[in-house]
Amino acid sequence: MKKITLHFLLIICFNISFAQNPIGYTLDYTPGSDKINIELEFDTLNADSIKLIIPRSAPGTYILTNYLAFIDDVVGYTTTGKQLSGMIGDGSFFTFGDSNDLLNKVSYTVDIQKMEIDLLDASTSSKARKDYLGLLGYSVFGFIEGLEAEAINLTINTDPSWPIFSTLRPDTDRQYGTDSFEVENYAVLVDAQYLMGEGVLVIRVEEAQIPLFVAAYAATTNDLEGIGNTGLLSLQKLAYYFGYVPMPHYTLVYEFLKPISARHDYGFNMEHLNSMTAHRDITQEYNPSRDLGTILHHMGHSWMPLRSYGEGYRPFAWQVAPLIETIWLNEGFIWYASFQNILENDGILNWWKSNLDTAPDFIKTKTLKELSLLGSTQYASDFRIGKNLFSRGALLAHDLDVLIQKETKGEKSFKDAMLGLLKWTETNKRAFKYHEIEPIMSESTGVDLSEVWDKWQRPIKH
Ligand SMILES: [Zn+2]
Repeated sequence: MKKITLHFLLIICFNISFAQNPIGYTLDYTPGSDKINIELEFDTLNADSIKLIIPRSAPGTYILTNYLAFIDDVVGYTTTGKQLSGMIGDGSFFTFGDSNDLLNKVSYTVDIQKMEIDLLDASTSSKARKDYLGLLGYSVFGFIEGLEAEAINLTINTDPSWPIFSTLRPDTDRQYGTDSFEVENYAVLVDAQYLMGEGVLVIRVEEAQIPLFVAAYAATTNDLEGIGNTGLLSLQKLAYYFGYVPMPHYTLVYEFLKPISARHDYGFNMEHLNSMTAHRDITQEYNPSRDLGTILHHMGHSWMPLRSYGEGYRPFAWQVAPLIETIWLNEGFIWYASFQNILENDGILNWWKSNLDTAPDFIKTKTLKELSLLGSTQYASDFRIGKNLFSRGALLAHDLDVLIQKETKGEKSFKDAMLGLLKWTETNKRAFKYHEIEPIMSESTGVDLSEVWDKWQRPIKH
């Protein structure tokens, strides 16, 4: 009896100390408003220990973006009904004073209109129109420091006439006015996109290996089908190349927008775990079949680096733009696989070489690792850095490919080096360290790749 009681007590203690309710996120939006409202509810914490972190970057963006500038009306709520104003800290976070009041809720607003006006690169900002709200998770959702690994229940509330779509659970059959999502953790919540409003069109592409969707704003049905066909072709080519598809589903998110100023740039796209976002200037002619390379590249990122990556990429330090040593791999390996291996684009090698030749000295004299560290915050803001990184990565991949094929008499290729990295991450469930990359690729191909590897580590010019 005593034993049983003790056992029973242990179970209770265990539950008290470790059971964590999912964090409740609620997003409210009234069409026509510039702002969205966000609320986070969590198990009580002392006010003086809470930091509400607002992300300053996200995996694969390689840029520092001050999303905190668009956050306002930050309030903490105590269990006794008191409200504490959020105060901006010495970084990208808010604090709630030094009392030991117990807080279990914070709320804040995000000015979507101001975000779009201030951020000139359309791929970094969320958008609000009279019939549309398009949100990039990391541009609007903050988190309580220390709770980023916890499960989340997200509820979205908007006008009853507005359908809601998320890349978390894509479906042509959308809920109107309100919907909720169970999310594994903060990283998954903010990797996703959220599209709502009467202006959003969604189609499912038939005959794909996995559920494949196009969700778009301000496009004609024709465009959607064209995008869907190009997406399907990309998925089929990548599935054939890698031999498997790791994504449970995939969504191509397209925004066709009237530029809000001549300075705003609609050229960049962004990859996510199970989706990509593309932004197009509606005043320019659009032909979806010309997006094959772009879609192939961004969808290819769902294999690498999204499911095999170096340190700094994941887990991600959200309140800074972390230094990453392997951007050349993240970008260059998929550039090589998609344009050289899959599309067999003959001119691409020379273009990568010319990107190295025409680079300024401050880029040429950097080692591969040094250039990647520089690109961690300035990949696209000086795109000569970005182009040099993916070009060096792609040319390294090419040299590896030639050597592997020669040494194995065509039995193996660069693809086996990539599959080796992907398999390694699946087994080890962590980021690979810099010094582990070459041995993983050498082992998976059975070819000593150290000489080619060492050659590409050095600067282009001394
Ligand atoms: Zn890319």
